[in-house]
Amino acid sequence: MTSVNPLDEPTPVCGACGVACERGYSMSINTETGERHDYRCLDCSERERWVEYEQTRILRTRLLEDAAYEGWMRRNDYPEGWTRPPAAPDLLTEVIAANEALHDAAKTFEREVWFKGLQTQVQAAKLNGQSIQTDRLKWLVFTSAGRCLNTLEDLEDHHSVTFITSEDGDECVMGVQGVEGRLEDVVGLVGLALNVWQEGPQVVGDEKVRMLGM
Ligand SMILES: [Zn+2]
Repeated sequence: MTSVNPLDEPTPVCGACGVACERGYSMSINTETGERHDYRCLDCSERERWVEYEQTRILRTRLLEDAAYEGWMRRNDYPEGWTRPPAAPDLLTEVIAANEALHDAAKTFEREVWFKGLQTQVQAAKLNGQSIQTDRLKWLVFTSAGRCLNTLEDLEDHHSVTFITSEDGDECVMGVQGVEGRLEDVVGLVGLALNVWQEGPQVVGDEKVRMLGM
């Protein structure tokens, strides 16, 4: 009987720059066959995220992490050993500002929704998963291990955002857990949720809501 050790697999080669992906890699998976393809080294995958943003203005969770990390590195004058590909300064500034705008949206959601009734309903709920159904908005709520996630998704255009906070207490700790979409679309989505909340929607237990976040 033979066993396969994934550590014995050959180091993949980056499909963009041709170097061996010694420090790690990203890849695509064919969901039908399970076949892996389109390997990228860490530098190329980050570079491609910035190219995608420049072309589409779609914010993704990894891009926000890249921007936060690179912003920190710039403030610290690029410590020795810096090897990551720097983003164009104007794009970096734009994404850092977008990150702050998303944080502001999280705080508005926290103030106007979470502390105005949703937290109370979550704490009283019997199921970990709950949802609010509207024509345009898919709104899923999931609690686990003292944390509560709210995922908002536009059912037509499929941009989405997930906020995370503590299930208990009255400290303002809500933040952005994940995002996919242009800033104006995601901010509009949060505005839609605020309007829905003011109408006093039914928050219903939903067993299909099991794991959220990105
Ligand atoms: Zn590469």
